[in-house]
Amino acid sequence: MHSKPLLSGPVSKAMCFATIGECMVEMAPSAAPGQFTRSFAGDTFNTLWYVRQLQPDWQARYVSRVGQDQISDEMVQMMSGIGIDTSHIQRSADRTVGLYLISLDAGERSFSYWRSQSAARQLADDPNLLNAAFSDADVLFLSGITLAILSGQARSHLFGALASAREAGKTIVFDPNLRPKLWSDRDQMRQTIMQGAAASDIVLPSFEEEAEHFGDASPEGTITRYRAAGCRSIVVKDGGAAVSYWHEAQTGQVVPEPVSVVVDTTSAGDSFNAGFLAGLAQTASVEDAIDRACRVARQVIAQRGALVTLDMSLLGTP
Ligand code: ADP
Repeated sequence: MHSKPLLSGPVSKAMCFATIGECMVEMAPSAAPGQFTRSFAGDTFNTLWYVRQLQPDWQARYVSRVGQDQISDEMVQMMSGIGIDTSHIQRSADRTVGLYLISLDAGERSFSYWRSQSAARQLADDPNLLNAAFSDADVLFLSGITLAILSGQARSHLFGALASAREAGKTIVFDPNLRPKLWSDRDQMRQTIMQGAAASDIVLPSFEEEAEHFGDASPEGTITRYRAAGCRSIVVKDGGAAVSYWHEAQTGQVVPEPVSVVVDTTSAGDSFNAGFLAGLAQTASVEDAIDRACRVARQVIAQRGALVTLDMSLLGTP
């Protein structure tokens, strides 16, 4: 057993929770045909958005890279406007932020992306900047999308910085978020995702994706595979079905309360991650932390869009 609790805050200062990845411009269809509403979203940013609401006492840091143009300024201003620490968002002179557009066809959403040349792809080009961003953080959160967008060399820088951070006692959290379109081939995706898990203490996969790309027959199969990578806590999301966990050698399931109308599942997993981590910091019970995560996610899927304002009175006491 490890002696250090997985999510213990420092005594002398506020907990610093940093997420590493890409935030994009989102263009979502509005009521009039051909018109769109612009906002900003991206998995690691979405998780930070929810952490910011759940733990306003934490320092919430985004580690990324944007351009120097107006839209990049607006993205950073939006983040600092909600109290996110943007001091480790790097700037590229010759690139800008990525963008995605949502199309609707009889209520079904599909996504088109313009992100292959985004500034965020360079976020790990300079290892010194990564080490500086991680040095006073307590928890580092990244996803499979963070790994997918980087060059091979930048990925090595990131793994190096994560290894040093872990060595220094920081907690590393990883959501595999498998997106085959972002990878040159499936084997590379699978191998790098397992490398991401091996670099992490907590892994928060979604069963449907893991079954599709790793062939897991059950959430227990997903747990067994990530346990072999050496993680201390594995929590497997599965839509409306039971969340399965293996946490510091304790194992079990938590069934989310059913949602009568699912409006939009965007960000369900991202908000769950925030709810779980915030819950873990407040309670010794992993099941209570998962319950809190489910309560956060159910609010998110009952509303439109990736970023919703949570009603704290519906979360219960952790
Ligand atoms: P992802 O968005 O990563 O694919 P999931 O779809 O597995 O993640 O959902 C994440 C969490 O959102 C679930 O563990 C659950 O708490 C909640 N959730 C998603 N769909 C439903 C649903 N139909 N009913 C109740 N809760 C849901």
